[in-house]
Amino acid sequence: MKKIILHKTKDKAAWQLHPWIFSGAISQKDRDLQSGDLVSVFNADREFIAYGIFNSVSRVAIRLLEWHPERVPDADWWRTRVKKAVEARRHLLNDQNNTCRLIFAEADFVPGLIADLYGDFISIQVHAAGVDQIKHLIVDELVQLLAPKGIYERSDIKSREYEQLADDNGVRYGDTPPEYVEVVENGIRYHINIVEGQKSGFYCDQRENRRLVAQFAANKSVLDCFSYSGGFTLNALQAGAAHVTSVDSSALAISTLKDNVQLNGFDTSRSTPVQSDVNKYLRQLGEEGQKFDVIVLDPPKYAPSRSTLEKASRAYKDLNRRGLMLLESGGLLATYSCSGAMDIETFKQVIAWAALDAGKEIQFIHQFHQPEDHPVRASFSEGEYLKGLLVRVV
Ligand code: SAH
Repeated sequence: MKKIILHKTKDKAAWQLHPWIFSGAISQKDRDLQSGDLVSVFNADREFIAYGIFNSVSRVAIRLLEWHPERVPDADWWRTRVKKAVEARRHLLNDQNNTCRLIFAEADFVPGLIADLYGDFISIQVHAAGVDQIKHLIVDELVQLLAPKGIYERSDIKSREYEQLADDNGVRYGDTPPEYVEVVENGIRYHINIVEGQKSGFYCDQRENRRLVAQFAANKSVLDCFSYSGGFTLNALQAGAAHVTSVDSSALAISTLKDNVQLNGFDTSRSTPVQSDVNKYLRQLGEEGQKFDVIVLDPPKYAPSRSTLEKASRAYKDLNRRGLMLLESGGLLATYSCSGAMDIETFKQVIAWAALDAGKEIQFIHQFHQPEDHPVRASFSEGEYLKGLLVRVV
């Protein structure tokens, strides 16, 4: 096996089981190393640290896999990783729920690869060079374990550019997913477009949070901002919301949401889908003096990196200020950030500022986080990204 030796002072994180080694930490490497090669990583004293996958183009030069010298990552090793990840999710799957994240990349020891289950279909996404070599093993093991009708790859995310990877979409096993795959989550039915939808087609990371927020929705007027295909909207309607206004800028999201309201047999007079920019729409509602009982703000990632955190904080603050303005005493705001760079304490501070600007006194009554099928590995805090606050206006 090819070898890499690290600089003397650059091995600490690797000993602490962090799965990334940056290119600057490498002191020596075998000359003919290629992206995707399995390598043994040693410290400056030639002590074995771990096995990893080398990547010649990424800032993350090695993704570490296994710290035990006797457990060489061969085909069986990969299959075991997939098996463990899938078995840990089995209890989430039943007649009320047939969608979840099966493999969450580094957090599940399968770096650079995500797999989501959507009923009879699985969608996979690769975001690191060097993972392609083992992709067929992952696909094959998923087939053995779950017998899906098809596995579709949706590798068309922007971060692939940093790895010099071109888009790579297509069927990897079995049938092409139909235009709409039907799934059920929290007992609610959804049409999911695996081939054309956003991300891999559905945001299953909000499963628990949708249910939690819906508990407060009975007989209430709800405003679901950044609704996508209706996750929060449908849970609120199911829980007996008097009325839900759902806002998203994407035409496909809004038309899917409309389909989903009908698919579940909800009375369409309780649902108002609006295709609009959320900031613009919130401003308009404010000018009209409209009020709601419960507001959900689930925007896309505003801070893709730490360097953009300050700018993003201002955007989160403005958005939340606009939302809070539409709530009266006793009103609830469920607000989220899926930016990994924004931690919960910073987010609380941002919301506190937004409330001050809105002239509202608030209480934090619950903290939301990502669900168990998006685990956070102790040595990899980078995997912790979704957080939220349930805020009550005093
Ligand atoms: N709450 C959703 C997921 C939201 S994902 C759920 O439970 O499934 C973020 C959504 O924000 C996407 O659907 C995207 O189309 C939408 N979006 C992004 N920028 C927007 C903007 N400025 N105004 C309105 N919607 C926007």
